[in-house]
Amino acid sequence: MENKTPRKVNIFLILFTIVFMCATVYLGYQNYQLNQAKLLLETELVNTKQDFASTTEKLMGDIAAFRDLLLATQAERVNAEQDVRKQQEVLDAMSNTLGSYERLANTDRELLAKYSRVYFLNENYSPKHSVTIPPSYTYNGDGEKMILSEVWPFLQKMIDDASTTNIDLKVASAFRSFDTQSKLKSAYTVSYGSGSNRFSADQGYSEHQLGTTVDFTTLKIGSNFSTFEKTASYTWLTENAYKYGFILSYPKKNAYYIFEPWHWRFVGKALALKLHTENKNFYDVPQRDINEYLINIFNQ
Ligand SMILES: [Zn+2]
Repeated sequence: MENKTPRKVNIFLILFTIVFMCATVYLGYQNYQLNQAKLLLETELVNTKQDFASTTEKLMGDIAAFRDLLLATQAERVNAEQDVRKQQEVLDAMSNTLGSYERLANTDRELLAKYSRVYFLNENYSPKHSVTIPPSYTYNGDGEKMILSEVWPFLQKMIDDASTTNIDLKVASAFRSFDTQSKLKSAYTVSYGSGSNRFSADQGYSEHQLGTTVDFTTLKIGSNFSTFEKTASYTWLTENAYKYGFILSYPKKNAYYIFEPWHWRFVGKALALKLHTENKNFYDVPQRDINEYLINIFNQ
């Protein structure tokens, strides 16, 4: 009996040891597997991180490329807009030039022509459009005096402005046809003999044929033109007519005709201002310089 118990114990111990070892081996194996799984996960995590990093890098690259593309597109758009604007400017300039040519082509070159005894208007010339000067503006109130329609607003304003400062200006003569001028010339010749050749009305030609020229008088002096120089109206004209585009064609001591203080020709505001400022006579300025003012002759 005493030997039986230790043997049982031994067997139990052996069995226990075997079971323990088996459990240890099993647990060790499980642990090994867990470690392997952990390693695998860790590797995958590293890979995923790397993938993420490279994906992020690629994305950032794509964003940068897209931004560059956007900037380039914007720059192209700006360039395209600039191109369109430049083309529009070119078109506008062309249109303006065409407009200028058209305006110049439609503007009568005779309006600013200098005349002489050898070069004057054709006898068939007459103003393109003329209007009747209202009788209240004329000396004899006849309602038969005509003027180039574009010139009338300038003349009317000049006479109206003068009257506000009690300056009397009456139109004694305006447009005269070649025939009328010839008859007038014959009458002058009869009255003054060969001395009438020094009038601008020489050979029947006159600036009056243009329809841009007027002879002034006052109610007081009437047809006594020779005294016009002494009137306040003449003084006023010498100081103000240029503001309305009118000039004195034949001032004192000019080389062409006798002094005609009553005879005023419309040449446009810009040219009249230049002549007034530079104290020059229209007939002393080269025709080429004068012609530059033709296009804007009726500018206000
Ligand atoms: Zn005249």
